[in-house]
Amino acid sequence: MSGNPSTMPCRITRPGVALASSRAVGPDGVLRVAGTANDSITDGPGIRFTIFTQGCPHDCPGCHNPQTHAVDAGTIETVDALWERVVANPLLSGITLSGGEPMLQPIPLARLARRARARGLSVWCYTGYRFERLLAGEPSAEVLDLLGDVDVLVDGPFVQRLKSLSLTWCGSSNQRLIDVPASLGSSTVTLWNA
Ligand code: SF4
Repeated sequence: MSGNPSTMPCRITRPGVALASSRAVGPDGVLRVAGTANDSITDGPGIRFTIFTQGCPHDCPGCHNPQTHAVDAGTIETVDALWERVVANPLLSGITLSGGEPMLQPIPLARLARRARARGLSVWCYTGYRFERLLAGEPSAEVLDLLGDVDVLVDGPFVQRLKSLSLTWCGSSNQRLIDVPASLGSSTVTLWNA
């Protein structure tokens, strides 16, 4: 990671703010991250560049990444710097947007996702929100824009009593692997088939 949170501007949505009003995101090309993984094999199929975004309002009991919850922690990265690391690895199958809560920073993540798909890389995204919640009422235009460049959305909060080690790409059985293009196209939730 690089950058200095104290000197670089980056605003993200505060926990508890209604998602539909989550437009107070930072500059388009900058995001706040908790960390990255250059060659993850646990955040979707193949080898993936994973971005753990900083800031999460869900506070799921048993969360394995509590350090990602504070919206003013982590470090600042530019989309361009992250993209350089993506293109530097020819073995990647895709990128994964994880957290924290990626839906708090949809604008820079949409830019990254768009570049990835244009390069033939798949885009997976984890969110503590249910897919239906993201689309309810007057959905955030920025979130919709991001979803437009996501292939698979792993949705819903982590629920400790539903935790299962037999699950491949999620932590609890309430979470779904959603085929986003098919779901947006049909207006019904379509699960992803490997
Ligand atoms: S959504 Fe993920 S990062 Fe946020 S509290 Fe729940 S498990 Fe932790």
